[in-house]
Amino acid sequence: MKLIFEKGAPGQHLTLMPACDVPEVELSNPRTDPLELPHVSETELTRHYTALAKRVHGVNDGFYPLGSCTMKYNPKINEDMATLPGFTQIHPLQPEETVQGCLLVLAESARLLGEITGMDAMTFQPAAGAHGEFTGLLLIKAYHAHRNDTARTKIIVPDSAHGTNPASAVMAGFTVVNVPSGPDGCVDVEALRAAVGPDTAGLMLTNPNTVGIFDRNILEITRIVHDAGGLCYYDGANLNAVMGVVRPGDMGFDVIHLNLHKTFSTPHGGGGPGSGAVGCKKLLAPFLPGPVVAEDGSGCRLVQPDHSIGRVKNFYGNFAVVVRALTYVLTLGREGIPEAAKNAVLNANYMMKRLSEKYTMAYAGPCMHEFVMCLQDLKDTTGCSAMDIAKGLLDHGIHPPTMYFPLIVHEALMVEPTETESRETMDEVCGVFLHLWDVAHDNPQALHDAPTRTPVRRLDEVGAARNPVLRYTGE
Ligand SMILES: *Cc1c(COP(=O)(O)O)cnc(C)c1O
Repeated sequence: MKLIFEKGAPGQHLTLMPACDVPEVELSNPRTDPLELPHVSETELTRHYTALAKRVHGVNDGFYPLGSCTMKYNPKINEDMATLPGFTQIHPLQPEETVQGCLLVLAESARLLGEITGMDAMTFQPAAGAHGEFTGLLLIKAYHAHRNDTARTKIIVPDSAHGTNPASAVMAGFTVVNVPSGPDGCVDVEALRAAVGPDTAGLMLTNPNTVGIFDRNILEITRIVHDAGGLCYYDGANLNAVMGVVRPGDMGFDVIHLNLHKTFSTPHGGGGPGSGAVGCKKLLAPFLPGPVVAEDGSGCRLVQPDHSIGRVKNFYGNFAVVVRALTYVLTLGREGIPEAAKNAVLNANYMMKRLSEKYTMAYAGPCMHEFVMCLQDLKDTTGCSAMDIAKGLLDHGIHPPTMYFPLIVHEALMVEPTETESRETMDEVCGVFLHLWDVAHDNPQALHDAPTRTPVRRLDEVGAARNPVLRYTGE
C-alpha cells in the first residue's frame, strides 16, 4: 500500500481550511521552505483512509476476546455526547464560570465512579491505567513521607500481576517484592504474611486477578498489609467482572485506578486516548494531583488539594473519555451496571465450559470475566503452540486472545468475551476454536502457515525486535 505522500500529483488538492475570519498577522519568523503536504484529491484521500481502516480489526469488525483488555462494544451514544459543542468548543484555560457544565461532568463522574468503587475522591488526570498506577503509587509515597515514615520502600506484587504493576512501582521509586500464587490462582497468604514488615509501603493487586479468579482471601490480604502499616492499591482493569456487585473500597483497598477505556466503554487499542482515573479513600485525598473539582451551593470550582503531589498531566486529563464513561454509567444506571458485570462473567463461563471440551484450562472454573487456557499439552502432542492457534483465528476474522500472559501459565491463551457478545457469536467462535484444535492434530502445518488471508502473513517477530526498521525508505 502506498503512503498518502506517494499518491496524487502536484496541483491536485482539496480545500479543507475555511476562509480566514480573523485579522491576518505577519509572523516575525516564518518558515522559508514550503510545507510538504500530500497533493491528493478528495476521492484519493477518502480511499486512502478507507483502505487503512479495512486493514485494522476492531470491535466493530468482529470478535475481539483480548483478555485483560475488555474490548467491549462502545455505544455510539457515548460519541454523540463527547462531540457536543459544549464539550468540544472550549479551551482549558477558560474562566471557571464559563465551563460549569464541564466541571460538573468531572464532579458527577467522580461521585458516581466513587460510589461504584467505594472511594471518596478521584482525579481524571492520568491518561491510561499504567499512568494511574504510577499516580496512585505516588500518593502512597506522599502519604508515608508526610508521616515521616521513610523506611517504607517496598511494594508487594503477586506473581500473577500485570506487567505494568511492578514497572509502575519501580518508576515511582519503590523496590518490588514478589509473592507467589497458590495452585488455585490466589495469593499465597502465608507468603504474604512473611513478606510484609516495617519496610512495606503497600501492596498492588487486581481482583479478580489476571487468571480470572476472584481472590476469596481478599479481606485477610488487605488486613495483613494494613496491620503492617502498608496501604493497598487496587488495579481496577478487571472491574468489568464486579462493577456494581462488590466494591474495591469494601475489599479494603485505599487507592485504585479505573481503566475508563476498558470497563466504561471508550474505544481503545491502537494507543488511546484513554483514562486511568485514580480514586482514593479520604486519607489520601489531600495528596491527589490538582486541581480537583469542588462543588458547593454556587457551582463548581477548581481547587488544589492541600498536599498535592502536583500535576501528572496537563489540564484535566483526556476529558472526552470521561464524558463517554459518564454517559455509559448514566445509560446503564444502578441496575444496568451490575447486570453488565454478571453477563460478562456468564459469557466467560459459557465459553470456558464449551472450550474445555478439548482445551485444557489453567485453573478450574467457574471463572470471572475471563479465563486462561494452557496449550502446553496441545503443543507437546501436535507441535502447534498457542501462537499457532492465535494465528489460525486470524483467518476466521477473529482477533486472537491475549497470548503468553499471565507469565505463570505456559502456552497461555487468555479469553475475555465481555458482556456485549451474543450467544450466537460465542457459539460461532467456540466452533472455530474447536475446529482449530482438530486442525492442529490433522494438519499441523496448516496452522504453522497461518494466517493466509490477512494483509500480511506471519511476521518475523524476532527479526522485528532485533533489527527493527524504524524509518520508511519507500518500497
Ligand atoms: C490494561 C491493564 C493495565 C494497564 O492499563 P493501560 O490503560 O493499558 O495502561 C494494568 N493492569 C491490568 C490488569 C490491565 O489489564
